[in-house]
Amino acid sequence: MNTIILGGGFGGLAAAQTLRSLLPNKHTITLISKSSHFLVGAGKTWIVTANRRAAEIMCDLKSLIPRNVDFLQAEVQRISSSKAEVVTSAGTLRVDFLVIALGADLKMSAVPGLAESAYSFYTLDEAVRLGEMLDGFEAGDVVLLIPQTPFKCPPAPYEAAFLLNSMFMNRGIRDRVRLSIHTVEPAPMPTAGVEMSVVIRDLMEKCNIAYYPGNQTKSVDPAKKIILFQNGREVHYDLLIAVPPHEAPRVVREAGLLNQTGWIPVDPKTLKVDAPESAVPIFAVGDVTVLPLPGRYKADAPLVLPKAGVFAASQGVVAAHQIAAAVLGKPSPMDFDGKGFCYIEVGGNKAIKGEGSFFDLPHPVMKRRAPDEAQFRDKLEWVKSWLEGRGVGESHRR
Ligand SMILES: Cc1cc2nc3c(=O)[nH]c(=O)nc-3n(C[C@H](O)[C@H](O)[C@H](O)COP(=O)(O)OP(=O)(O)OC[C@H]3O[C@@H](n4cnc5c(N)ncnc54)[C@H](O)[C@@H]3O)c2cc1C
Repeated sequence: MNTIILGGGFGGLAAAQTLRSLLPNKHTITLISKSSHFLVGAGKTWIVTANRRAAEIMCDLKSLIPRNVDFLQAEVQRISSSKAEVVTSAGTLRVDFLVIALGADLKMSAVPGLAESAYSFYTLDEAVRLGEMLDGFEAGDVVLLIPQTPFKCPPAPYEAAFLLNSMFMNRGIRDRVRLSIHTVEPAPMPTAGVEMSVVIRDLMEKCNIAYYPGNQTKSVDPAKKIILFQNGREVHYDLLIAVPPHEAPRVVREAGLLNQTGWIPVDPKTLKVDAPESAVPIFAVGDVTVLPLPGRYKADAPLVLPKAGVFAASQGVVAAHQIAAAVLGKPSPMDFDGKGFCYIEVGGNKAIKGEGSFFDLPHPVMKRRAPDEAQFRDKLEWVKSWLEGRGVGESHRR
């Protein structure tokens, strides 16, 4: 028997590490990733502000894959669950259990004019390019644009704005830079609740970052350096930084596993995919999924779990327990509990650690403290733990 794990990010690694610890070696495990590296997304804003080098937020993927897990560096080209096989650029593999942890693809072209005009920090290359641009930036309108949801790590654009504010202050040019955020969201981090939104809004006000929620982007005109919104607003920029629109990877879209949200729906507790046509059990974890939450703030506004590495990792652990239980013929001791945390750096080596319980009723609950250096150090340790292979344990440390 075997398990094939597609993806070597937070979810895929957590699944591989956990499953290997639960099943004897005669159950073979193969992890497939097109990338030879593991990269901690939480460090990308450090690249933008030149606080860290790329080598400090990434490592060789092989160094995190347990012994007795096969690593195949290849592109997944087709998932044929009805035939129990996965087609890759390195050949076709037969599957007994499948874990899909392929993350989300970024698609700047989803908004007309965006790809031609915007910088970003959602990939390493983009973060480096933005950092280089900022080196020579002296004055003007810096606009952070969030054109679509969902996107990875809901605090990330707000953290980017706080770190840019800090960087411009340190360079003595803050009075010559106007910083603003324009977003389709109704409020910052809306799934985390009103209290968290208020904290972020207060911080933005303190940092003189103008905030425009509820704005649907129509297009961007790179020649005139103007963003056009559906409500008729036009906003000028000198430097445009966008959160790219996200979509499920092509191979997942073609596998017929998505629902109307464009992501793979999973059982919120077991991460199992309801796929009656499939010849094998399929689990999906992390950014590639949509996971409905039981609670909500408004009766007519259902919520889904935010996309974040901590959740991808916890879900990978749960999927591994579910598979091990099925193989061993025992009930699984572990369900996904919707708990996780996130860090929001606010500049000056300070951060807020928000600790969320997203399955709570009547709505998710997020606890947080005032920003301080201890929470920033906690983030540094969390990033380090992932690069040193201790991440799965750390993701459960609360
Ligand atoms: C700026 C930024 C800051 C962030 N900060 C945080 C934070 O503080 N805390 C947090 O928890 N999360 C944070 N995140 C989010 C976090 O990075 C993602 O939610 C997390 O990486 C999702 O894990 P995943 O396993 O689902 O997907 P990923 O980590 O994206 O992994 C996907 C894997 O699939 C592989 N893959 C994709 N397509 C193919 C294919 N066709 N064939 C083969 N391999 C393929 C990739 O190579 C990769 O190995 C941040 C993200 C960004 C961009």
